[in-house]
Amino acid sequence: MEKLKQIYEGKAKRLYETDDPDLLIQEFKDDATAFDATKRGTIVNKGIINNKLSEKLFILLTDKGIPTHFVKRLNDREMLVKRVQIVPVEVTIRNIVAGGMAKLLGLEEGIVLKDAVLEYHYKEDKLHDPLINEYHIKALKIATDKELDTIKKYSFMVNEALKAFFNSKGLTLVDFKLEFGRNKNKIILADEISPDTCRLWDKETNEKLDKDRFRRDLGGVEEAYQEVLRRVLE
Ligand code: UDP
Repeated sequence: MEKLKQIYEGKAKRLYETDDPDLLIQEFKDDATAFDATKRGTIVNKGIINNKLSEKLFILLTDKGIPTHFVKRLNDREMLVKRVQIVPVEVTIRNIVAGGMAKLLGLEEGIVLKDAVLEYHYKEDKLHDPLINEYHIKALKIATDKELDTIKKYSFMVNEALKAFFNSKGLTLVDFKLEFGRNKNKIILADEISPDTCRLWDKETNEKLDKDRFRRDLGGVEEAYQEVLRRVLE
C-alpha cells in the first residue's frame, strides 16, 4: 500500500489517501501538544509506540465486537485504516476523577466514581472543545439519535474491555477519549487509543504513565510510554 496525497495533518497524526478510495494510511508523529496546543514538544518514539499500542487495542476491541477503522499495521509509524467521516464529538469516559473533571467541579484527582461518567466535547479547537450534552448533539444534527445510541453503547463496551485489559497489565484506566466516524453509513471507532488519549496509572503506586507527564512536566515521558507498551505487549 502506497501513500498518495496527504489529506490531513493534525497534532499527532497525518492521513494519506491510497489507491483504494475506502482506505487511508494513518501516520503517527512524535509531536505532542497540550492545553490547546499552547504547549508543544516532542516525545521521542511516541509515534512508534502509539501506532503499536493502537494496533493491539483496536484488535482487542474488534474481538469484543466493537467495529473500528483499523485494518492492519504497515510499519513502525503507519497503519492502514478505513476512511471515515469523523463525527465532530469527542467522547470521554471517566472511571476516576482527573484532569478536566477535577477542574470543572473542584474535585480532588483520584476519587473513584461509583459509575463511569460519559461526556461529550464538541470538536472545535477555537472554542476549546466545549462540553456539550445529547440535546446539543441531536438539536444541532451533529449525529442522529440512532448514531448517538450506537456511540454510547460502543463507548461503554470499550470502557469495560480496556479497564479489564489494562488491569491485567497492572494499569488503572482513569479516563480516555474516543472518536467515532461514519463508514458506509455505519458508526465505527476511529482515531487512536494510546497514552495520548488515555490516563493510565500504575495499579500499585498510582504513578502516572500517560501524557500528563508531558502536560505537567513530570519528566520520564518517553520512559512512561515505553513502559505502557512493554506491559501491553507482554
Ligand atoms: N483527551 C484527549 N484529547 C483531548 C482532550 C482529552 O485525548 O483533546 C483525553 C485525555 O488524555 C484524558 C481524557 O481525554 O485521558 C479526559 O481528558 P480531560 O477532559 O480531563 O481533559 P484534559 O485534562 O486532558 O485537558
